Amino acid sequence: MNNTLEWNHDTLLRDVERRSGSPVSACLQCHKCSSGCPVAPDMDLLPSQVMRLIHLGAEDEVLGSKAIWACASCEACTSRCPMGIDVAAVMDSLRMTAVERKAALGDSRGNCFNKALLTSVRWHGRVFELGLMAMYKIASRDLFADMDKMPRMLSKHKLSFLPHFSRSVKDVRKIFRRAEEEEEKR
Ligand code: SF4
Ligand code: SF4
Repeated sequence: MNNTLEWNHDTLLRDVERRSGSPVSACLQCHKCSSGCPVAPDMDLLPSQVMRLIHLGAEDEVLGSKAIWACASCEACTSRCPMGIDVAAVMDSLRMTAVERKAALGDSRGNCFNKALLTSVRWHGRVFELGLMAMYKIASRDLFADMDKMPRMLSKHKLSFLPHFSRSVKDVRKIFRRAEEEEEKR
């Protein structure tokens, strides 16, 4: 932990509870979320540590962590929490807050991936994997990582060169517009 934390006790806790709709203040530090998290070995903070730091208002440390971007939103933590805290939604709300407050991101690749994924879904109504990969690689400047997997994925028809549009693409775009309007009202 660094020593230059901004101890902003109430603001972060209230913001996260409002956004996630979850009673983060009820966390009793049982660590069940952390012990069931498949991504925990790659996180710099465990989900239960994120909860505790939110209590303490350690905004810089939480919003600048790699953990919030490593979270895969699998909801294992949410289903294990005895206090009914939607930990996955908390992680999601922290990502939104980090972007909004222009926090010094611990790992900007997570943010690049998030943006590329949402852009792909907005354009096509579903994910167009090859386009998503291209957007992510350009934004992250991580051009050559995992390129060795491409031939195998292509040979197994896991990647298509052309996008397939969802029949509900117009509805999906409406959802994005609605979410933006809701966000502007906050
Ligand atoms: S939603 Fe995120 S924090 Fe929760 S178990 Fe899955 S990867 Fe871990
Ligand atoms: S499982 Fe729930 S109560 Fe237990 S540490 Fe995680 S968030 Fe807190």
